[in-house]
Amino acid sequence: MSGNITFTMIKPKAVENGHIGNILAKVIEGGFTIKAMKYLRLTKEQAMEFYAVHKERPFYNDLTEFMSSGPIVAAVIEKENAVEDYRKLIGATNPADAVEGTIRKLYATSIEANAVHGSDSDENAQIEAGFFFSKLEVF
Ligand code: GDP
Repeated sequence: MSGNITFTMIKPKAVENGHIGNILAKVIEGGFTIKAMKYLRLTKEQAMEFYAVHKERPFYNDLTEFMSSGPIVAAVIEKENAVEDYRKLIGATNPADAVEGTIRKLYATSIEANAVHGSDSDENAQIEAGFFFSKLEVF
């Protein structure tokens, strides 16, 4: 995979609230192309592994319970400067601080249920994409 990819998830609450289509439309309108995608539910253990970097944070248990509470959409998306541009498109972690028109401003319901995940570095994008997808599943 090239350096111009990032990894995203549509989180359980946004899926439950019927926002998959709207969020994917924003991603595509934002100039990203979809390299890989799946609809799945994480186990608690898988969510704990994915978010292991946050294991010392006070919200780790709540976050991993939430992320395993229902199905998600996981995807690898591509664009020049993907990581930074996607972070701009999704907005701040806390939707209360997110810029108008960003995905989190539009579709998040709380700091935890903040609609989408977006990788924070090229290195993590590769690691996170590899957590969900094999080489054969990325186009
Ligand atoms: P991100 O890179 O913008 O997703 O933010 P972080 O890496 O700091 O946090 C990872 C995820 O943990 C966020 O997307 C939220 O779902 C959740 N999170 C972050 N801060 C808090 C918090 O203060 N409370 C709770 N309950 N969840 C949080």
